[in-house]
Amino acid sequence: MSDLTDILAMTLDELKERLTELGEKPFRAAQIFEWLHKKRVGSFDEMTNISAALREKLKSEFSFEHIQPVRVLKSQKDGTEKILYALADGNHIETVLMSYEHGDSLCVSSQAGCRMGCRFCASTIAGFKRNLEPQEILGQLYETERVTGRKVSSIVLMGIGEPLDNFDNVVKFLKILSSPEGTNMSLRHVSLSTCGLVDRIYDLAELDLGLTLSISLHSPYNAKRSELMPINNRYKIEELMKACRDYFAKTGRRISFEYALIEGENDSPEDAKALVSILGGMPYHINIIPVNSIKERNYRSDRPAAQRFCALLTELGANATVRRTLGADINAACGQLRREYEGI
Ligand code: SAH
Repeated sequence: MSDLTDILAMTLDELKERLTELGEKPFRAAQIFEWLHKKRVGSFDEMTNISAALREKLKSEFSFEHIQPVRVLKSQKDGTEKILYALADGNHIETVLMSYEHGDSLCVSSQAGCRMGCRFCASTIAGFKRNLEPQEILGQLYETERVTGRKVSSIVLMGIGEPLDNFDNVVKFLKILSSPEGTNMSLRHVSLSTCGLVDRIYDLAELDLGLTLSISLHSPYNAKRSELMPINNRYKIEELMKACRDYFAKTGRRISFEYALIEGENDSPEDAKALVSILGGMPYHINIIPVNSIKERNYRSDRPAAQRFCALLTELGANATVRRTLGADINAACGQLRREYEGI
């Protein structure tokens, strides 16, 4: 990978500043930004209203690398498309495009691998390689729209990696994504899912970006949650819930809680009661997902079980739904395709 700053990772203000330092007029930055983020060109030479001399200067000042699609799988059941991308350094990540009534939603990765160690998750088993750069997160949107010809109307940061463990690059990505001179996506159409890095949840609340925060909870009990999710040894459920309440107080945004249902682990009526009790006092929504089996673990569930657990929660007055299962025929659960391809 190049040592130069990638031009796709620069906000418009940063680009203006750099071009001014290079002796160029600031309006050139706006033109270049538009080529990159609205017209989405693949090379400097396609920027036809920029002089050849300035294009050469840009080539020597910035890198402009692209992630490369290496496999595209399309579900025959529901149109879900899953794309395996190669990064410039040979790492791989996955991106999933899902179709909903309200439009197409893109699930992007934030890291190559993950170091959070959740027991049920395929992304973590092969370990952590590195953080993704802002242009590699943005590139998943640009390349996927190009490759599939579909238009993405919302983004979920729920692919490979822990987005709050790559805080600065994720925030930069969000700033560029929502820039009116670029893609101009409202951050109301973005969800960020975290296993619960409490300190970073406070940092995110400070920024008040308007996105939806999703917390991967998976158990209301510290002992069980620590067993399933090692991060719970660092931040206990009580601390996490306090951060969630503060997040709501600061941003006014209702939090979503993810609950991967696992037979015999977190699916009892007591679990349902305890879950409703710890979430009390703030508006929330619980998303129940029947756990996706991975070959290393004996975790199982199914849709009827998820529906039964959901009914228990609803009876207790909770706001809960079962997540639609998409792309079941193409291994759409995060991390599976990357592992198969890299043989890890
Ligand atoms: N690191 C972030 C985002 C990536 S995982 C997080 O932990 O939230 C996205 C979601 O998928 C999380 O809720 C995660 O717990 C869940 N998940 C991971 N593996 C799963 C599996 N095998 N079955 C069901 N959900 C899973």
